Amino acid sequence: MKKAVFPGSFDPITLGHVDIIKRGSTLFDEIIIAIGVNADKKYMFSLEDRIKHLEIAFKEDPTIKIKSYKGLTVDFCKSENAQYILRGLRNSTDFTYEQSIAQANETLAGIESVFLICSPEVSFISSSIVRDVIRNGGDYRGMVPKGIYV
Ligand code: ADP
Repeated sequence: MKKAVFPGSFDPITLGHVDIIKRGSTLFDEIIIAIGVNADKKYMFSLEDRIKHLEIAFKEDPTIKIKSYKGLTVDFCKSENAQYILRGLRNSTDFTYEQSIAQANETLAGIESVFLICSPEVSFISSSIVRDVIRNGGDYRGMVPKGIYV
């Protein structure tokens, strides 16, 4: 069984994440959306809310699981028997950032990273842009899945 972990902060989930997960689900038997918990990081949405948003977005797909983890992503992959990490790429900045992490994960634990290039219509979307729009009272409905507006 081909299992991938899709790690991230999902603060909040965006249509960019949904694009990668939906397309990734044609490649893997199961995808675990894994919310990395970093005690030193300040989030806009609580862990409970981020889990709830993901559950709403993927409630119709039994091959998508939602979990949270602390520590190294590769250790979480091992504990879940997942052989792959799925990541999305928007541009060359994402690529440069992801390259060394993927190489480290392969060296550390033999976990392969699989990258999907996002669809053009979501390439401008990031959680940080959505947070900025929310903070300033803008309309962010076109950037997040239906059902998670606050
Ligand atoms: P992180 O805190 O690790 O950056 P994110 O929640 O921001 O986590 O992102 C998780 C994954 O989703 C990353 O692989 C990121 O590149 C990808 N991603 C985020 N936004 C988009 C987008 N608009 N299109 C494609 N992939 C995206």
